[in-house]
Amino acid sequence: MMGPSHALSGAAVWLSGSWALQHFYDYEQSPLALAVGTAVCAGGALLPDLDLSGKVTRNQGGATVARTFGVFSLFIAEVVEKVSLGVYYATKLSRDPKRSNGHRTLTHTIPFTVLVGWGTTTLCARYGKWAVIGILFFMIGLALRGLFDEWAERAGWVIVTLVSAGAASFTAANLPGDRGYPMIGLAVGVGCFVHIIGDMITRAGVPILWPIPIKRRMWTPISLPDSIALRAGGKTEIVVVRTALTVVSVLAAVGLVAPSVLQKFNLDL
Ligand SMILES: [Zn+2]
Repeated sequence: MMGPSHALSGAAVWLSGSWALQHFYDYEQSPLALAVGTAVCAGGALLPDLDLSGKVTRNQGGATVARTFGVFSLFIAEVVEKVSLGVYYATKLSRDPKRSNGHRTLTHTIPFTVLVGWGTTTLCARYGKWAVIGILFFMIGLALRGLFDEWAERAGWVIVTLVSAGAASFTAANLPGDRGYPMIGLAVGVGCFVHIIGDMITRAGVPILWPIPIKRRMWTPISLPDSIALRAGGKTEIVVVRTALTVVSVLAAVGLVAPSVLQKFNLDL
């Protein structure tokens, strides 16, 4: 799956999940909390591809997400890729093949999604608003890059960075104290998980069972059989999947916001 589809799937899952919580369990979120959760989940759905590095010194290549904050995020991607490769070699068994880069290894596993979600929640709980601002800044940047890819490409990373910083500080200033923080960690974790599933249905093998050894392999790539899998970047992904994800997101958003709007309208009458 390509960047924008990943980001859209994160947004769609968060919005429809929030709708289900509100509809079946009466769990209501403020419009701001909804917007933050959606943005963070969309950004989280790009996070695993931060292991696709480019050429830092020449400021070239890398996944779209690795270019969000220009050469800075390209450098982070370089580190993530090398660490992932290190973990691959540290845990590989005799039948795992040799690799020269760490793309689609550690960051595409369940333990990683749990660790990132838990780590985010812990940071927010321990360091409060400053951690929240930093995390929101980073995640909103990724979300912008993914959801508005053409705009982000034209605007360049400096503008994307400034917009993310603005949105993050606005959010942190308006988010109520205790309720929003665990939600941010959950949104990052859910986003990462949605990314892994997205890669799996587009023929890309993902080591989702790691660290469970199977037949002397620790990093068994799991994917759908070619006959039913989507082709990454193919017409089906770009047209059908993205349209469906957009429709789901819009319907869920309308379903979430409409009741309170209608209520206000009635009260005013
Ligand atoms: Zn991926």
